[in-house]
Amino acid sequence: MPELPEVESIRRSLSPNIIGQKLQGYKINDHRTNRFNTKNPKINESLLGISRKGKLLIFDFEEYSIIFHLGMSGRIQVNDKKNKHTRASFYFDKDQVNFDDIRRFGFINIINSELKNNYLKKIGPDVLNITKEQSRMVINKSKKSKSLIKDYILNQKYMSGIGNIYANEILFASRIHPKTKVNTLNNNNWKDFFNNTKRIMHLAVKNNGTTLSDMTYFLPYGEFGSNQNFLKIYSKINCFNCEHIIDKIYINQRATYFCRKCQKLKN
Ligand SMILES: [Zn+2]
Repeated sequence: MPELPEVESIRRSLSPNIIGQKLQGYKINDHRTNRFNTKNPKINESLLGISRKGKLLIFDFEEYSIIFHLGMSGRIQVNDKKNKHTRASFYFDKDQVNFDDIRRFGFINIINSELKNNYLKKIGPDVLNITKEQSRMVINKSKKSKSLIKDYILNQKYMSGIGNIYANEILFASRIHPKTKVNTLNNNNWKDFFNNTKRIMHLAVKNNGTTLSDMTYFLPYGEFGSNQNFLKIYSKINCFNCEHIIDKIYINQRATYFCRKCQKLKN
């Protein structure tokens, strides 16, 4: 959390209001949030656009980009009062954009525009915009890997945007057991996987993301997402398809839900 749909919802909420405004100044309050910046450039430019790759939110200026990784609990708040979790504030002409992060796994990276593309190349294709050719490359790489599918899709190196909640949802929809070794998946499994990924991510973006009962995620102007009402396996008790009791295990310390009847382990 937040994953692709939440970051995309934040992007869509901010864009019409903040793009075009000039950044008058900013303040990073927390050295941990600032851990990847060697210096803090003076940015005195208009915001040209807000983009996204995977879970990264990117403010694009002429000479600089500000990359936000929201980590586990980061959020972007517009014109909200500074609180003890406010790690950075950006002062635009009309609006103040705060980066709040309770658990401090998130970070802000301010980089020269010329370095942005190289930086973004280090993460895999965005699963909402992945092309046929890129997905074929993901499949080819998987043939040489013995990783578990759940680890593989959470590793932002191969593809980007999927986090723990949507990984559970996508594997359930694709009837793939989360402990399946990726080199045993066939082309039909992958076809299902990519189709379900796009469908589930589109729906979640339409619903403004998932706000769980911990209220960690909400939108920049305070609204909640509604995709929690559409989850089929994450934190559920009974299977949506067959009503069998859902198993909960931990893979790499991440809560993993599956139905042993609908998602059979083949290997
Ligand atoms: Zn089931």
